[in-house]
Amino acid sequence: MTATQHAARTEEETRALAEQAGRDLEDASPLEILRWAAETFGGRFCVTSSMEDAVVAHLASRAFPGVDVVFLDTGYHFPETLGTADAVGAVMDVNLITLTPRQSVAEQDAEYGPKLHDRDPDLCCALRKVKPLEEGLTGYDAWATGLRRDESPTRANTPVVGWDEKRRKVKIAPIARWTQQDVDAYIAEHGVLTNPLLEDGYPSIGCAPCTRRVAEGEDARAGRWAGRAKTECGLHG
Ligand code: SF4
Repeated sequence: MTATQHAARTEEETRALAEQAGRDLEDASPLEILRWAAETFGGRFCVTSSMEDAVVAHLASRAFPGVDVVFLDTGYHFPETLGTADAVGAVMDVNLITLTPRQSVAEQDAEYGPKLHDRDPDLCCALRKVKPLEEGLTGYDAWATGLRRDESPTRANTPVVGWDEKRRKVKIAPIARWTQQDVDAYIAEHGVLTNPLLEDGYPSIGCAPCTRRVAEGEDARAGRWAGRAKTECGLHG
């Protein structure tokens, strides 16, 4: 994508802009929110995708063809997730950027011992998710995610546009107000790429060692870090 020249703003101005946009765009459609992001931040805006599905990437590519889509390859993904990422890069009008941790899984095992995800998942997520994303977002002023308010109580107050204090960037959740039914309808209407595991008992997909199938009637995120005192990876804290 060609970087667009946008007015330089101070951090305080950017934060105020985000907070105002959060109020102004509360009732806007995901496409309207993403068009605002594209017009406001140009090439300093990206979308992150876990490759559970490509709904936000698809919406963003309509608002901003060639948009940067950032995928975090932790080294622990299911093959289906890696295949979904490859397909998104191949068929959608996006610029797929794959981030990787500084250490391979083998290097991490050598330094911290094997299966760190079982013994200290917070450290494993910090090394393989949080740190690489922080480094990968350095060149952006704003990032969009697929967070939805109905996913969990901790996400119930997610603003459609807000200020990410941890990374000091604008954080956009264009489908925050959507339900799972809204997502399913969009996928069906536009033939959006989805991870095959969604149809195989995995309604929420993370790294393979930390994701299990959920039973009928279980919460969608019950299969994430099951049996461990952890519900979020730290990317959205
Ligand atoms: Fe490690 Fe599990 Fe976090 Fe993936 S989800 S980074 S394997 S602790």
